Formats: sequence, structure tokens, C-alpha cells
Amino acid sequence: MGAAALWALLGVLGLWVSVLILGPNRMFRGTLVERAHAVVTETLPALARRSLAQCGLGAAVAARVDGVLTALFGRRNPLLQIVAVGLYWAGLSIFLLQAAPHIPNRHVGAWHWVPICATLATNIVCYVAASAADPGVVGPDNAEAACRTFPYDRLLFFERTCATCRLPKPARSKHCPACQRCVQMAEHHCVWINNCVGLYNTRWFLGFLTTLGVICVYGAFLVATVVLEQRHLRGLAGPLLVWDAGAGRHVALTVWSSLLVTLGDCRALGMLLVLLAVLAPAIVVFAAYQLRIATLGYTGNEEGKWLNVAAAIRDGVVFAVREPGGAEAICVIEEEDQAADPRPRRPITHLRQVPNAYDRGPWGNLRLVLFPPRPAPSPQPEPKPHAA
Ligand SMILES: [Zn+2]
Ligand SMILES: [Zn+2]
Repeated sequence: MGAAALWALLGVLGLWVSVLILGPNRMFRGTLVERAHAVVTETLPALARRSLAQCGLGAAVAARVDGVLTALFGRRNPLLQIVAVGLYWAGLSIFLLQAAPHIPNRHVGAWHWVPICATLATNIVCYVAASAADPGVVGPDNAEAACRTFPYDRLLFFERTCATCRLPKPARSKHCPACQRCVQMAEHHCVWINNCVGLYNTRWFLGFLTTLGVICVYGAFLVATVVLEQRHLRGLAGPLLVWDAGAGRHVALTVWSSLLVTLGDCRALGMLLVLLAVLAPAIVVFAAYQLRIATLGYTGNEEGKWLNVAAAIRDGVVFAVREPGGAEAICVIEEEDQAADPRPRRPITHLRQVPNAYDRGPWGNLRLVLFPPRPAPSPQPEPKPHAA
């Protein structure tokens, strides 16, 4: 396979990963990213199923393939985690074997090894912790205590039982269909760490994402300095005349041509540069989005619920209701129930009028993510007095 084909393959792989990372994000609703995500996750699998059916393989084989696809992409499994770790390891190996020996160079000093080692070590520790940590799984032992961590706001979260786990559902929790379990302060299920992101591992996930964004941008910069160094060592940096056989005369070597010649000699570095450059925008945007919503005091799961509240406000069914005790609560009252509801109320016309019960201010929200509270131990039953 030629170098160009390999680079193109890496570029496509990087774009595929970027689309998988950014596609489900509401920030990209109605954009090319969302359409690309739909093609990758819906259109192409559907096409594969149809093609299988047309091949005459029979319903049994098609059902088996469907089962395998569901097991691979709809259930918790390490497939994409292996892809992620493999890509990471390949990139790190190229960096350590081909770029590291040329740092320092005439563009970067030896002190860069301090931030390089610190960022890599933090990133790896955060990744392992995010993958291995308990995200805040709700089980029979802790369900009751977990329900006391956050109050029910009766707008996004109500007291109810998870139909699958058959356990009380704490406020801010979500049932993860991939892991078949409820998770406290659920952010989302991340296929790249093969774990849910929730109350107890969001900090590791954010640490991993932020340092990965730094690694992509900083790594691309460092690799670029090594490519420039290699260009210099090959004597291609200065003004140079080269023989152009087609024109039959000497022509000046352009900067672009000299870079291409250098990259032709250092293919692995070129591939690493392509991969980092393609991934960097996706990782940086996703990290910024996750940090932003964590600071604003909601999770990815709750963002979807807030969008539903915004839609209900547009439908004119959200009200500030005066409860019998005198307190005011925000409620959704469907049109057919409004006539029968005797409580005094005023209509809500904008999402700004609805307070987020879980917002503790930027620093309070970050503190909650960085130092999540351990649930209070379940109240112990009173010991029965011994019979006399
Ligand atoms: Zn559940
Ligand atoms: Zn999960």
C-alpha cells in the first residue's frame, strides 16, 4: 500500500472516530456532523442488513448478523475500547521511537519533556481510572442511600422505580441500556472507555478528555517541529535548485515540495501528524462541551430533558404553581388537565424563568464533579431489645 493510501486511510479512520464522538452531541443538531453520524450508525448498518437479505443468506443468518451487531454496538463490550487503546498505543510508539529522539531541536527546548511527561502520565492515569471506576451503579445495597444524594425536582426527575432494575431511581440517575443498570448522575455511556460516565468517574473522564485535547494539539505541534528539523537535517530548508526533467531546467524547490520530500522519508511521523490533526478539533470541541455543561450544572442526559422542557414551554404547558404550603413549583400541566387543576399558577414563557435545582454555581458544580459525595450510609435498623 502506498504512503498516500495509508495516510488517506488514517485520515478516514480519524474522521470516523470524530463523527462517532461528535455526532450524538446536540450542538451539531441539523449539521453535516449529525448527518454523517446517522449514515455511519444507521444507514450503513441498514444497508448491510438489506444486502445480506438480498444475498439470499436467509432470515436465520440475517438475524444472527443482527444479533452480533447488537452485541458489538448496543451492549457493553470492549471492541471500541480496544480500537481506542490500539490507536493510542500506535501513536505513542511512533512518537517515542521517531519524534522523541529529536526533542529538543532548534524549535523546542529540552524543558518540553516536563509538560510532555506530565500530560501523558495524567492522561493514562485518568483513562484507566475512568474505565475501571464504579460510575455510581445503583444496586440493591445502595439504592436507598443513592436516592438521598439529590432531591427530586419534580420537573426533570420524579420518585419512581426503574422498570428494568426494579429499584428506586435516584434523581439525576439514568438506566444505561448498554450496561443494563442504573447509574447515579448519569452523563452518558462511553464506548471508548467501555463504561458509563456518572457521579463517581466524571472527574476522571473530564481529566482524560482535557489532557487528550492537549495531547492532540501539543503533540501535533511537537511532531511538526520534528518534521521541520528533519527537513533542515536533509539540507532542504534553504533556497535550493532542483532539476525539473519535464521543464528541462533547474527550478527552485518550494517549501511545500521540501516538506513532502521530508514526509516521504519520515512516513510514520507524517501519519501521526495526520491522525493528531484530524482528531484534535473533535477532541477539543467535545472536551470543551463536557467542561461547559459540568460547570453549568447539568449532564448530557439532563440536557436532553431540558430541551424537552423548552419544547413544553413553547407548547404553553409549563407553569409556576403555588403549592398548598405556599411554595412555588415549576410543573408541566397538560392542556386537558389544566381546567381541573385548582392551584393558582402563572405561565412560564422562557427557559430562563425555570431554575435548575441542581445548579450550585460554577465552582459548586465543578466541586461536585471533582469531589463527589459518598452516599450517606443506610440507616441501620434499631437493634431489637433482648427478651428478658
Ligand atoms: Zn435501571
Ligand atoms: Zn453504560
